[in-house]
Amino acid sequence: MLTLDGSFGEGGGQILRTALSLSLITGKAFCVENIRANRSKPGLRKQHATAVRAAARIGSAALEGAREGSCRLVFEPQTLLPGHYRFNIGSAGSTTLILQTILPALLLASGPSTVILEGGTHNPMCPPFGFIKTVFLPLLRRMGAEVEATLEKPGFYPKGGGRILLEVKPIKEFRRLDLQRRGEITRVRARSILSNLPRTIADRELDVCRRELSLGGSDLILEEFESKGPGNVLYIEVESERLTELFVGFGKKGVRAEDVAEGACRLAKDYIASELPVAEYLADQMLLPLALAKGGSFKTGRLSGHASTNIHTIQRFLDVEIHAIEEDRRTTIIVED
Ligand code: ATP
Repeated sequence: MLTLDGSFGEGGGQILRTALSLSLITGKAFCVENIRANRSKPGLRKQHATAVRAAARIGSAALEGAREGSCRLVFEPQTLLPGHYRFNIGSAGSTTLILQTILPALLLASGPSTVILEGGTHNPMCPPFGFIKTVFLPLLRRMGAEVEATLEKPGFYPKGGGRILLEVKPIKEFRRLDLQRRGEITRVRARSILSNLPRTIADRELDVCRRELSLGGSDLILEEFESKGPGNVLYIEVESERLTELFVGFGKKGVRAEDVAEGACRLAKDYIASELPVAEYLADQMLLPLALAKGGSFKTGRLSGHASTNIHTIQRFLDVEIHAIEEDRRTTIIVED
């Protein structure tokens, strides 16, 4: 059994989620101690406990210490079972992080699966649904994945109540992916998403995007949804020849709409000026698919603590080499079998 230290590096929930994904795929049992030791409330929170429960159902795993608050978990998978699943976090915890935990294993299972995930779909500090749909899944499809995700109902933090439907068809293996260049930028769009809040919030955000990014017409989009609580998220989608990246501003009570939009515009402008294809968040999320493909590469900015911790966790499970070559605030990632 592999023993992992949950306080290593960044010491957050990603060590656990990556371990669950790779334990399901490799069949290797693991024990993780000091779970989320570097977080203000260490141990398993609802989102992590649901990820463990979901992975355990899918891998018919034996568990020790899977309750909320636990700082030590033993996970021993048996058989990978594709099928129809429904997992409810029971809070506004992030459904997209659970999706990312179970998706690689479901893609490599012996049959198709459908999964309903209930909880938060647009949470600060997590990939919002739009990032999964517009950025992450299209890249997995380029690697051969047959997968669809549908937002049936948004769930904004802190009320939650959102629902995602995930449909997965099995594949034999992931194809190699190289993202060394992004090519020309072909389109920039701003999309303000709103629920149970006045439209003027979205109008003010889109006005900032018009000014800061010189956008107009159909590149300024307002989407209104029904949901349990109030919520507002601004996406700036940057499409280039090789991929789409997405930058987010999370609306928050007490923060002016203009400030939310200016923050997101700044991230998009920095990305456009950098000429790098992969921005910070996508960098840490692509490591696992590339390691499963046993090959691939990308260029990104300075590597985050989250990404280097993820590299370490991946290499505990898989016999792959992940090189991170840092040069002049740019990093080239090369994954080799
Ligand atoms: P916790 O211990 O609370 O679970 P964690 O260490 O697992 O935290 P974070 O470091 O907060 O989690 O990151 C979670 C994931 O969310 C990372 O993979 C990161 O790339 C992703 N993420 C965070 N913000 C965004 C964003 N705005 N857009 C896309 N992805 C994001």
